[in-house]
Amino acid sequence: MIPPMLKYLIKQLFTKPFTNLFPANRVPNDTSAFLAKGKITPPIPVAENYRGKLSYEHDKCIGCYSCIRVCPANVIKAVTDKDGKRKIKMDVSKCTFCGQCIDVCPVKCLHSTPEFLLADYDKKSKNLTLE
Ligand code: SF4
Ligand code: SF4
Repeated sequence: MIPPMLKYLIKQLFTKPFTNLFPANRVPNDTSAFLAKGKITPPIPVAENYRGKLSYEHDKCIGCYSCIRVCPANVIKAVTDKDGKRKIKMDVSKCTFCGQCIDVCPVKCLHSTPEFLLADYDKKSKNLTLE
């Protein structure tokens, strides 16, 4: 007689995994074909007001640097853009997603997005830099 644990293990060998390959940004941009064939599990929606990767509206920024003063993780640096205007540069790999910079920005040019797939091989990649 086959022990129940062995039966379970054999069954698992032929069961589709519930998880996806990670990081998912290594999967092609258009995942619809994978979804249609049932090769990947669709992501679940994130919660309302989820604090994911930040977004930055460069043109709206007035360079007041309030965000730099409140950031506890030293994510934000002061920079001057090509037109000589005071702007910021953010190293998202250091961010703790506390949201303090969003709250303090007087012109509301920083936002949280639902994006949570931030795994990367390069800490300085474009995906992890906002400017
Ligand atoms: S969310 Fe918090 S840690 Fe991230 S950049 Fe803003 S203030 Fe800094
Ligand atoms: S608080 Fe807002 S306006 Fe001020 S520097 Fe930061 S992003 Fe720009």
